[in-house]
Amino acid sequence: MAFRLVVASRNAHKIREIKQLTAHLPLEVVGVAELGEVPPVEEDGDTFRANAEKKAVQTARFLGEWVLADDSGLEVDALGGAPGVHSARFSGEGRGDVANNELLLEKLGDLPLSQRGAQFRCVIALASPRGEVQFSEGICRGVIGFAPKGSNGFGYDPLFIVPEQGCTFAELSSEEKNRISHRSRAMQGMLRILERLCQTQA
Ligand code: IMP
Repeated sequence: MAFRLVVASRNAHKIREIKQLTAHLPLEVVGVAELGEVPPVEEDGDTFRANAEKKAVQTARFLGEWVLADDSGLEVDALGGAPGVHSARFSGEGRGDVANNELLLEKLGDLPLSQRGAQFRCVIALASPRGEVQFSEGICRGVIGFAPKGSNGFGYDPLFIVPEQGCTFAELSSEEKNRISHRSRAMQGMLRILERLCQTQA
């Protein structure tokens, strides 16, 4: 019998990615937005790990269910790891992806490609209904381009060039991105945890 895994995210792109990556498991993946009144969790931690843990544990305790939460973002070498945990609101609360990408291009100016190294980092936390938590982390290295390219994905995808692919995340199909992304790498570790969980819950 499939058991339910709630994803504590309101980002439809992420929920779709997690559904694709767990398609082979006997899990019913449900986004928290489908569940009605679940109080939002403030992401005020200094690290991806702290934010992922807070979202997973608070939501799991509220619902009394297994909850997966991720926190992720872009760390740019030349900016000392910024925007990091502030990736979603880099250019200001609610200003959105286009403004964030414009600000990133402005901050990097005409630095050469050799100094435009960056990485996406993702930490996934799985909380039990009682709030016990396990973690998995994934990183994907790349380079920030000089102009947006491609229209797939979300966030900083149009600026994030993966050297091995010779194009941006936004020029890859979701299947191609899922093979190499920070989130899929973190999910590979989490899948092993979920596989064990599915066996014990069966
Ligand atoms: P959060 O994990 O939902 O808090 O994501 C924070 C922000 O990081 C997003 O709003 C995006 O700006 C950025 N981000 C995280 N993952 C990705 C990705 O796969 N592609 C592009 N941007 C991402």
